[in-house]
Amino acid sequence: MSDAATRPFGGLEAAFQAALAQATTAQALEAVRIKFLGRKSEVAAALKGLGALPADQRAEVGKRANQLKTAFEARLAEQQAALATAPARAALDVTLPGTALAQGRLHPVTRTMDAILACFVPLGFEIIEGPEAEYEYYNFDRLNIPRDHPSREHFDTFFLEAPSPQPAKGRLLLRSHTSPVQIRVMERRKPPLRILVPGKVFRPDALDPSHSFMFHQVEGLVVDDRTSFADLKGVLEQFLRALFGEDTQARFRPHFFPFTEPSAEVDIACRVCRGTGCSTCGQKGWLEIMGCGMVHPNVLKGVGYDWQRVQGFAFGMGVERIAMLRHGVKDIRLFFENDVRFLEQF
Ligand SMILES: [Zn+2]
Repeated sequence: MSDAATRPFGGLEAAFQAALAQATTAQALEAVRIKFLGRKSEVAAALKGLGALPADQRAEVGKRANQLKTAFEARLAEQQAALATAPARAALDVTLPGTALAQGRLHPVTRTMDAILACFVPLGFEIIEGPEAEYEYYNFDRLNIPRDHPSREHFDTFFLEAPSPQPAKGRLLLRSHTSPVQIRVMERRKPPLRILVPGKVFRPDALDPSHSFMFHQVEGLVVDDRTSFADLKGVLEQFLRALFGEDTQARFRPHFFPFTEPSAEVDIACRVCRGTGCSTCGQKGWLEIMGCGMVHPNVLKGVGYDWQRVQGFAFGMGVERIAMLRHGVKDIRLFFENDVRFLEQF
């Protein structure tokens, strides 16, 4: 076949194949037929114009045009037959089982955090967050934990190597509790205050079933001119009943924290054995839930409050610990391993 004879149909076959592949309805198929075999198509025009061609090209072009016409017709018929049986497959069969879509969900720690916050918000608490990289000044000094005080040893701390942007406020560290946010808020605002501080805290603890170097706390602070320890007890007892159930029994044990005086630890009666002793509570019958106390006068003085006129109380709890008690989780590390088999249970 000479060049002159093939040129009129160059690329025509490929274009036909591409158009055919796109045609998935009878209508589209008809459009393909009209375009490639209709009266105005290239093939039809070539057959019609054969007489005008030089005698030596006439036979070649005619033969090629007829070959294409036959091939196109055959493939169109095939495609039409395929389409005719397709509707049965494509029709919606409502009796088939559906496709389950994987659904995301909130992390159990987030859910517990939300449940804790939801108990306090109706009592008028405002939720405030603060920085995770903190100055010694806020993490220790202003919380009545002076630099040379032995109580600072109880707070093993991750110090940052980055130079402190404000050397007067000491070194930078990863906060070891959420309490520094109390100081930041009290420095900015005057009483009355009723705030709740959720967030991550960091301590260089070795990983084991009940310790992690990062965990979450929720801290609360109330400051006004008439708050007493009775208010603290009332608020926390109401919180524990809201979170763990109306029949929850709580007890307050004297304790020491540098930033509160008097201080207490709060236990609830073990939910498994109801106080008689079991493996969950280490045979004690009680589970330690949180720490609390009346804000130390030195803390109030430090932020410039009149400590003889205003008082306050503060409390703090570990969110993972409460999540473990709520859901019967025995190992804190499960919360951070991101194993979907664990996370899907919540
Ligand atoms: Zn028990």
